[in-house]
Amino acid sequence: MKTSVIGYPRIGAARELKFWTEAYFKGQLTEPELKENARLLRRTHWKRLQEAGIELIPSHDFSFYDGMLDTAVLLGAVPSRYRELGQGELATYFAMARGYQGAQGDVRALSMRKWFNTNYHYIVPELTDDLTLALSGSKPFDDFLEAQAEGVLTKPVVIGPFTFLKLSTFKGSKKPEDYTSELIEAYAQLLSRFGEIGAEWLQLDEPSLVTDLTESDLALFTKLYSSLLSRKGSVKVLLQTYFGDIRDGYTEVVSLPFDGIGLDFVEGKETAALVKKHGFPRSKVLFAGVVNGKNIWRNDYSHTLQVLSSLREAADQIVISTSCSLLHVPYTVQAEPQLEEDARRLLAFADEKLQELSELRVLGEDADHSQNPLLLANVRLHQEKKNKTKDRVQARVRDLSPGDFTRSPSFEERSKVQKKHLQLPLLPTTTIGSFPQTREVKLNRSRWKKGELTTEQYQANLRAMIADCIRQQERLGLDVLVHGEYERNDMVEYFGENLSGFLFTKQAWVQSYGTRCVKPPILYADIERTARISVDISAYAQSLTEKPVKGMLTGPVTILNWSFPREDISTREIALQIALAIRDEVLDLEAAGLRMIQVDEAALKEKLPLRKSDWHEDYLDWAIPAFRLVHSGVKPETQIHTHMCYSEFQEMLASIDAMDADVISFEASRSHLAIVDAIQDNGFRTAVGPGVYDIHSPRIPSQEEIVSTLQSMLEKIAPDKCWVNPDCGLKTRNPEEVEQSLTVLVQAAKQVRAELH
Ligand code: GLN
Ligand code: ZN
Repeated sequence: MKTSVIGYPRIGAARELKFWTEAYFKGQLTEPELKENARLLRRTHWKRLQEAGIELIPSHDFSFYDGMLDTAVLLGAVPSRYRELGQGELATYFAMARGYQGAQGDVRALSMRKWFNTNYHYIVPELTDDLTLALSGSKPFDDFLEAQAEGVLTKPVVIGPFTFLKLSTFKGSKKPEDYTSELIEAYAQLLSRFGEIGAEWLQLDEPSLVTDLTESDLALFTKLYSSLLSRKGSVKVLLQTYFGDIRDGYTEVVSLPFDGIGLDFVEGKETAALVKKHGFPRSKVLFAGVVNGKNIWRNDYSHTLQVLSSLREAADQIVISTSCSLLHVPYTVQAEPQLEEDARRLLAFADEKLQELSELRVLGEDADHSQNPLLLANVRLHQEKKNKTKDRVQARVRDLSPGDFTRSPSFEERSKVQKKHLQLPLLPTTTIGSFPQTREVKLNRSRWKKGELTTEQYQANLRAMIADCIRQQERLGLDVLVHGEYERNDMVEYFGENLSGFLFTKQAWVQSYGTRCVKPPILYADIERTARISVDISAYAQSLTEKPVKGMLTGPVTILNWSFPREDISTREIALQIALAIRDEVLDLEAAGLRMIQVDEAALKEKLPLRKSDWHEDYLDWAIPAFRLVHSGVKPETQIHTHMCYSEFQEMLASIDAMDADVISFEASRSHLAIVDAIQDNGFRTAVGPGVYDIHSPRIPSQEEIVSTLQSMLEKIAPDKCWVNPDCGLKTRNPEEVEQSLTVLVQAAKQVRAELH
């Protein structure tokens, strides 16, 4: 048995690549310096994999920004506006990734989308009618040869033609099918070149195979690969899938002449059944993705060995592999000495997973492994893991009954009560919660954390800032106020730190896009709120004004989706535990006099299953109830708001309505209000605040612009169901921009309101 890794993190264990690249952007590092540093980083990674005993070591999993962008460049898909800047290769590449504004011109970046169900984002290739795809670069070969020179025979990794087409946008009249012959030619050259330079295996990544496929998708896939594989040459081709099972195309895939097929046995809930039902060709190598590339827990060897042994009945040749690229986990647990040993030994980041692959190989080859110390130690570990429970919390979840998920009275009835109680004008104006995180705001927090400020001093500063913020909002004439969120670094971390059951890391960064990384907290034990979190500051803010202030909370699904989840209990159960904790906070906010409470579900859509057929059963059926549980206990007059950071929820409108919030705000300024049509067509019940301007840009909107946006919104939305707000929190903007934009927003709302009367 051999071991393989689909991909390894590339940002650097101390985020070196991020800092070098950003220094290069600022002109503090030259291009040759950046490239040399990157070369050394790649070498470090290859050597590490080699030392860990991995046989199939990936190359070309390295990227200066993103692998999809690399593929686009490799195939010559560089839109003319970037070529016309007349810059060198690397500068053109970064112009596509981040836009360019300077002496050579002014172009915006290509758009970015979420990479399947991860928190990674890829650059979307743009295919125009005048474009001919052709093998245009040498990066994959250069990387392979570079490793070869270091004495490492690697398995080059390239995104496959099917996924490339599925994820690109087509700007002209051409369709994916119009590019097939060009792509076949380009990939055939890629294969033959790799044969020439001595590669044994080439890995072509086709994660799009795990999504819902139509007949024409399958026809496209089959056409691409039957032609391509007929011209294969000496290199062996591994078709690599991940993030799920390939139920729609399994039989087609196994009947094509691939040398190896990589399947995901972690997230692919039907993978094992597919192999059992349809068999696996004896002549091919099965790359079994059994070590989770997305989560950070130690592998359960007994379980994995069982999976492998049942596969042996079907396949003659098995390679033990990760379930997806290790890009989605941090480097090493060793960088977290502050964690207690009890917790630490349950964790496996990328490097610990390399060790797991090797140990699993040893165990897999040991015919009688039941007494093997490697296995016994692992079994003990998993027994320990079971002790992270708190009876109190588990009992609370167990005792939930249907009534706990239903707020009464009904939406219609309580909206009458709220109208009377709140006395808001038509088109009420508000913001999403955060105000600018100025240097002063950040310094107050960091100095307190370092012990340079006492808690009293910190609190006094915080209150002064909140008072200023309330005064500003009153002066601007906003109708519903917020406290500004000056106490929060991050909307998940803040709550995580104030709930028991989370682990926080110091170096466990995961690339989110380009040079951006996130450090997700780890859901470690049962979740409990041990003290009130935001109640005092929210009540303080409310005490300063007659106008309603919104209490601001992060919702359970978002907290869960932006953390590493436990695996010993279901995600449903985790969501309900968090929901109960947030529910307690909601009820305390209400008791403290807050008349409105906003529970943000910024990331609700993020973990929506890739296949529509799994949406309800695997996700929405517990995610929506978890949100309802948070607010079902409030009085009829308390108004519940929620917020989402996107507006592409047309397809799940019914589920959003079923959250049973009173008001929802969402991003809409860049999506041309398409959602507003859907809202009208579907009789959406919740009141809505589609963002009327884009907070991601420093641009100040004009009053006419907002007025006309509001007027077009009002063609579809009843005036008593329509709110006026920016499209997200204001924390990344500067105070002047906020002052000016909100002035315009309030004036625009007043103008349209006057026209309504
Ligand atoms: N209330 C949060 C804020 O205003 C919401 C952030 C978000 O949606 N990502 O910053
Ligand atoms: Zn948002």
